[in-house]
Amino acid sequence: MASPTQTLEFQAETRQLLQLVIHSIYSNKDIFLRELISNASDALDKLRLESLTDTDLDVDTSDLHITLEVDKAARTLTVRDNGIGMTREDVVELIGTIAKSGTASLLAKIKEAKDADAAQHLIGQFGVGFYSAFMVADKVTLHTRRAGTEQGTAWESDGEGTYTIAQAEGLPVGTSVTLHLKPADGEDGLGDYLAAWKIRQIVKQYSDFIRWPIRMATEATSNAGTDEPAAEEGTEPATGDKAAPELETLNSMKALWARPRSEVSEAEYREFYQQISHDWQAPAETIHMRAEGTFEYEALLFVPAHAPFDLFSRDTKRGVQLYVKRVFIMDDCDALMPNYLRFVKGVVDAHDLSLNVSREILQHDRQITAVRRRLVKKVLGTLKDMQTNRTDTYTGLWEQFGRVLKEGLIEDRDNTDALLELVSAASTHDAEKPTTLREYVARMKDGQDAIYYLTGENRAMVENSPHMEAFTAKGYEVLILTDPVDEVWTDQIPAFDGHRFQSIAKGQVDLDNDADADGTDEAKAEKAQREQDFALMVSWLQSTLADHVKQVRLSTRLTTSAACLVGDAHDLTPTLEKMYRAMGQELPQVKRILELNPTHPLVTALHEAHHANADDPALAEVAELLHGSALLAEGGDLPDPARFTRLLTDRLAHTL
Ligand code: ADP
Ligand code: MG
Repeated sequence: MASPTQTLEFQAETRQLLQLVIHSIYSNKDIFLRELISNASDALDKLRLESLTDTDLDVDTSDLHITLEVDKAARTLTVRDNGIGMTREDVVELIGTIAKSGTASLLAKIKEAKDADAAQHLIGQFGVGFYSAFMVADKVTLHTRRAGTEQGTAWESDGEGTYTIAQAEGLPVGTSVTLHLKPADGEDGLGDYLAAWKIRQIVKQYSDFIRWPIRMATEATSNAGTDEPAAEEGTEPATGDKAAPELETLNSMKALWARPRSEVSEAEYREFYQQISHDWQAPAETIHMRAEGTFEYEALLFVPAHAPFDLFSRDTKRGVQLYVKRVFIMDDCDALMPNYLRFVKGVVDAHDLSLNVSREILQHDRQITAVRRRLVKKVLGTLKDMQTNRTDTYTGLWEQFGRVLKEGLIEDRDNTDALLELVSAASTHDAEKPTTLREYVARMKDGQDAIYYLTGENRAMVENSPHMEAFTAKGYEVLILTDPVDEVWTDQIPAFDGHRFQSIAKGQVDLDNDADADGTDEAKAEKAQREQDFALMVSWLQSTLADHVKQVRLSTRLTTSAACLVGDAHDLTPTLEKMYRAMGQELPQVKRILELNPTHPLVTALHEAHHANADDPALAEVAELLHGSALLAEGGDLPDPARFTRLLTDRLAHTL
């Protein structure tokens, strides 16, 4: 005999939460289905586990599944499972109250929150789960029977203040949740949740990898199973010859990341990679990992073999998707992968997060931060292994992603050393093959303590730059760095493996001090003598060119050119200066240092002419030409090209 229906009140906090769910928080109402399917999936897991541990439990677990049923006439959508089910007490406790600790204080904070964003942020700290049904339904009915018990329970509510609860006879084991849908008017984000195509789409998007089959009962009419929204109009047969419903499984259930690596074939990895990346080439590397313990997660990551076209566009997305227990949560999960690893694609499935978690919360979550740290280490370690064991593949990979990885040298100070190990750079050592920093260090000359490099727009310009001359002449290897990002990281990272980075276009270069034959006392005395000889001309030149340079001095880095421009150790390079200006930053003019080659015929002739008649007006013109050609030699821009050309042609005319 059925007991009478009881009407009970929701716990006060539950009522507040319901009001929030119904009225304010979500713009994306589709997620109610993800929540109900996730609950059903949990219930199936629990039943299977219990059937394994409790041998007395007499239940059939041979076909555990979830069914979605649509009744267009009644405007209902039912989510049914044959899982663990609930007792009457369970229903009152689990559905009628919010047992989670801290809920009350959280709700108080939500009420005080000034705006929707703040409320959203707070609500993301715990799942709204079952109650999300009230976003789309004005009445929800639940029927359930706990495995191992005989008595079923019916529960119903309109989500306002109360719910009813009653005994129900003849229920199968498991739970069914029936949503009496609000009218779909398209205005407040209510989709047409009775349409098969819509249900398919939501299941595909959020619940594709749920490990139990999610079946939809579709009426077997001529156009059943079509994916066209328009076809839905005709699913109601005009005559009374309704066929028996067909069951269609909506989800693929293939969560590769949840399977042990040994059980996944290369072909499966590849197919999965193609699905999530839309890249038809095989990935260069697959990383599959699992963490157990306090914070469980699985990660399946791929390093693509080539860069997407939009790798450097401002809004490229990061390639990692977040799942929680096989339920899709979000694409482009920036909390899990730093920007400089944005080319890595894949999935992270974290077990202990709320389905409702927001990007913001993830950013501040300590466990997520720890996961990210591990993922980054793993990716960098994998790249390192490739560099060691698959050098050719790695070289190709570096060509694709090297520029992005070098952003990490600026962004991620925790991994500077690992990133420096990965750097591959062109060098004067080999015209074809790039070098690693470690290889460079192994080749350093006795007594050389710095890693020499020169930045510039392209290899030819750097190689032919006057700054190179003495280094080439004395056999010092110089790294040729031509990516814009090189200007920035070399400015910020002091050293690799104890060897500082030294731009050959900056500071004083004293190759003579590097235990070399020239480092003798004799050579030093000769140098001092030369400085004294040139002193007058040098100081005259410095005042003549004062608008353009901050200093003129004799150089030890030139062998064939007459002059070159260098910066002080901490000055911006011209390229960096240009970059900052292009980004709209205001900078004071960066004046550089003009270095003269005291053995060059032009410099010695200028010296003599100045000595003979310091007032000759032609001297100032030669000074200007000297400065202009030094600028041109390093690929710089002349302040006044027309004037430079006129001075040059006049001078040539005189000599002919
Ligand atoms: P959560 O899933 O985060 O626990 P929900 O609000 O989604 O929160 O669900 C509350 C509880 O109700 C669940 O923990 C579960 O015990 C119970 N429940 C919900 N749906 C089902 C179901 N289909 N079968 C069995 N129990 C369920
Ligand atoms: Mg739930």
